Order: sequence, then C-alpha cells, then structure tokens
Amino acid sequence: MAAKFDLGDVGQSGTATGPHAHLYVKDKATGQYLDPRTIRSPLLGLRVGQQEIPAFVKDASGKIVVNPQSGITITSGFGKRVAPTAGASSFHQGEDLALPAATKLSYQSTGTYTPKPGSGGFGNLGTFVTGDNKYELGFGHMSRLGQPASIASTTDSTTSSQSPTYEQSQQRTNDILEAFMKGTQYQSATQPQARTKTASEALKDQLLAGLMGGGTDMLQGVTDTGGLPQEYIKAIWG
Ligand SMILES: [Zn+2]
Repeated sequence: MAAKFDLGDVGQSGTATGPHAHLYVKDKATGQYLDPRTIRSPLLGLRVGQQEIPAFVKDASGKIVVNPQSGITITSGFGKRVAPTAGASSFHQGEDLALPAATKLSYQSTGTYTPKPGSGGFGNLGTFVTGDNKYELGFGHMSRLGQPASIASTTDSTTSSQSPTYEQSQQRTNDILEAFMKGTQYQSATQPQARTKTASEALKDQLLAGLMGGGTDMLQGVTDTGGLPQEYIKAIWG
C-alpha cells in the first residue's frame, strides 16, 4: 500500500489573518527553521482537501510553486514581518497557508507523522519527518490532528516499483553527472554487470569524430547508452 498520512484539518486559531495552517520546515541535522521557499521538494507530498489535490507542483520551468488548483494562498511568508497580533512573532519562522477552516491536509510519501496537540503558539501541531530523516515539516493551528503513523521506505516493498520520487530523480541525475565528470561508467543498482563498451566511451568516440570530421549528430550510431536515458546524454553531449 502506498504511504499516506492524515495530517488533520485546518483550524481557526490564527484568526487575525484568517484560517490557515502555519507551515514550517526544520532541518533535522541543525534544528534550524528553513525558509520553505528554498526547500520545496519535501512539500511535493502535501495534499489538500478530500480530493487530495497536490499543494505544490512544478511549473513549466521545473520550479516548485503553489498549485493554483489547491486553493492555497500564502498570507505570510518566512522572515521579518510586522507582528499580525500582539505577542505574535516578528520573525516568522514559516509560511501561512491560508485555506478554508476544516480543510483536510494529508501527505503522500514515506515518513513519520506525530500529532502534538496544544503546542504553545502553534496550537494543535502535527509534525511530519520525511522518510530520508532530513526534514521535519510542521503544520500548526489545526482544529483536528490525525493519528500517529510511520511508514518507512525500506519496509514498503511497493515503493521501489513505483515511479521515482523527485529526490530520487535528482540523485540519479547527480550520479550520472558525477560519473561523466570522473570518466567512469554510471551503473544503477539494478544493472551491476560490466558492459563491453561504456556509454561514456562510445560518446567520447562520437565526440572526437564530431570534432575531427564535423559530424552533425554526435549521438548517431550510439546504440549502447549504458542504461543512460537519451535526454541526459543529449543534455551533456548534445
Ligand atoms: Zn504562521
């Protein structure tokens, strides 16, 4: 079964600016609150409402932005601000995601959810630690919290057969680039066998041929890409 968490419902305790969930992103290693604008990828798992609409999506340029379909308005961003109510922080350690009261929030990916009712200024707070244990996401001012739950990627046997996550794709891209820079062959975990001619060797041959003879398509004739997707090869060599 796919990893899915009930984060509860948006409440009304942040009345000055209307109903919203206070979202924070905390670096687990340093304990620092991060500007959520700079760490959007863990938020790709956040879902809004009964229809579980993604809260954040990638735009045409690949940037992660608020999904217009989600109905979210960011009414207060991270950083210095004029305190909206007496006693409220003048340095806002997160983002306020304005939504109608009682809107259900959920999360789809691996990790650990912990409800923390009555957490000081956060009110009813739900925390979600991402499956890679890098980030703690906080959702404050909730009227209802979900049940504690934990789903680890290593025990979720269905995860590996699903499409790769954004982070996995990024890691794969990084691995491929690093392999090219070191002149070594990229091998995924599922393709451990040595190949007769590596993709980088084939491509270097093609590159040399292109430099020497003015060939127009350096990828022409490359049939063994060593398991590398063509778009990566084109991006690097094309
Ligand atoms: Zn807030």
